[in-house]
Amino acid sequence: MRRSKAFIPTSKEAPSDAQLASHIFLSRGGFISQNASGLYNYMPLAKRVMKKIENIIHEEMHKVGAQEVELSFVTPAALWEESGRIEKFGKELLRFKDRKENLFLLGPTHEEMMVDMVRNRVTSYKNLPLNLYQIKTKFRDEARPRFGLMRGREFTMKDGYSFHSSDEDLNREFETIEAAYKKILTRLGLDYRVVEADSGAIGGSGSKELMVIADSGEDTIAICSECEYGANIEAASRSSRTNIPEAPEAEFNKFQTPNIKSIDELSEFFKIDSYYTIKCVAKKLIYEDSEEIVLFFLRGCDNLQEVKALNATEALDITDASEEELKSIGLTPGFIGPLDQLKAKHVIDSDLKAAKNMICGANELDYHFVGVDLSVIDEVAYYFDIAEVNEGDGCPCCDGKLSFTKGIEVGHIFKLGTTYSKALKAEYLDENGKAQPFIMGTYGMGVSRLVASVVEQHHDENGCIWSKATAPYMVNVMVSNIKDEEQMRVGEELYSKLQESGVEVMIDDRKDRFGFKMKDAELIGFPYTVIVGKELANGQVQIYDRKTTEKTAANIDEVFAKVM
Ligand code: ATP
Ligand code: MG
Ligand code: MG
Ligand code: MG
Repeated sequence: MRRSKAFIPTSKEAPSDAQLASHIFLSRGGFISQNASGLYNYMPLAKRVMKKIENIIHEEMHKVGAQEVELSFVTPAALWEESGRIEKFGKELLRFKDRKENLFLLGPTHEEMMVDMVRNRVTSYKNLPLNLYQIKTKFRDEARPRFGLMRGREFTMKDGYSFHSSDEDLNREFETIEAAYKKILTRLGLDYRVVEADSGAIGGSGSKELMVIADSGEDTIAICSECEYGANIEAASRSSRTNIPEAPEAEFNKFQTPNIKSIDELSEFFKIDSYYTIKCVAKKLIYEDSEEIVLFFLRGCDNLQEVKALNATEALDITDASEEELKSIGLTPGFIGPLDQLKAKHVIDSDLKAAKNMICGANELDYHFVGVDLSVIDEVAYYFDIAEVNEGDGCPCCDGKLSFTKGIEVGHIFKLGTTYSKALKAEYLDENGKAQPFIMGTYGMGVSRLVASVVEQHHDENGCIWSKATAPYMVNVMVSNIKDEEQMRVGEELYSKLQESGVEVMIDDRKDRFGFKMKDAELIGFPYTVIVGKELANGQVQIYDRKTTEKTAANIDEVFAKVM
């Protein structure tokens, strides 16, 4: 590709809301452009990186016998009614009607549709196991799309689904896919951990997340210093949460006159003893005849799906909401003080405007948003997510100690069991001719999130640093001064020779200044830039290594060996 002809609109300016390196450099480097909140265009460079990642995924999936399919993005709502998920998924689900008034949704994930495709087509145990996957656009109307490709509303996911006739076979496949996912991340040059996860609203047990280690990650994970053990904090806390304590009456009464000024005091109040102990405290409220869950969202509570699983009709994550946002949903900025001075407001309802006397609170250090009408609380039903995992705790698998770190969830694998096949009556005939529901697994990987994750782990202050596996182009041949005929001739020759030998190569044949072109090359992050400049007088070029930022002189015929 000739840089003079390429559509790579690099820029000095980052989007005003960009905080993460990946968001900044992918925008500035001309990889992506934003249309609206959480909606991005992939320009040629991003498309090339995506393709590379997708190819690695395809290769590893084919190796383990998974077959590629493609399901329609627009999903008939009827399928989600069959599974019951249409109620549970909440506002992330974008619903719409066609001209005949039939209800559809944009697939945020494809369990139902996959089960529907397989049911009545795979009818015998002889045709099992089966693993089908796709790489496809997903849509989730995220409450707060942010960080560029990291949390989009429209994004690309590799989603796979497996069908089995026994738990043993599902377990075998689960391990196979876990191993394949690890290979993918290793090939992408990512530092990651596989952690015990939360199965969220998808249901089922046996769930692991693949977490790319990065300070910018939204999840907190506990990892062992000695062995491979890792766990999402929520999951780690759950495993030690076998006995959810019933709140004593006295505790409940105390609640009516709290004077809680900080998270520490709140922990003290709930008799739980570290920051991580408080993710979310939920209370049960009987309102008229229906049961609702009352939520106190604390900063750092990212566990909405779980909250929803506790039969709240809908929950809204307000942990990081701005004052404006809270006002827009009818919440008043509260203060710390007697709760009865605060107006009862709502947070849980399928239609917030129609919500009744609901109760919520979003707390962060020394600053609460609360609206509580205590008269409607009947009983404290849950202490939720009372973690007992602290930094320095012993590892459950070895003698090592646990430490906390931040991770980006790039993959998530679940043992679904028969949740969906039962709900959708998807059955096969076993060896005795008896109808049985499929035993299923589901395996997700965030392809577009991976693009951002690679940059999170591989960048410096000047831009992206791609590896051979991920680079949009491996080599950038930079003609220092295009008016110099000899430089141009050698540059062109290198360009075509590299191209002929299958190297993905760009030639920077623009008439801009050398310094400008170099900055551009650093921002984009080509692994190698071959500078054809003054050294040509000695028959030499310079090879700039983006990772080490070192320039080394090389004879022209050495270039191949150095950049391959
Ligand atoms: P998160 O906890 O980040 O919201 P999730 O648990 O809701 O993710 P899953 O339902 O497990 O996501 O989907 C599988 C994978 O899809 C995730 O592991 C992640 O890599 C990716 N993914 C999910 N939501 C998004 C998004 N909004 N933008 C980009 N990738 C996403
Ligand atoms: Mg999510
Ligand atoms: Mg998650
Ligand atoms: Mg997940």
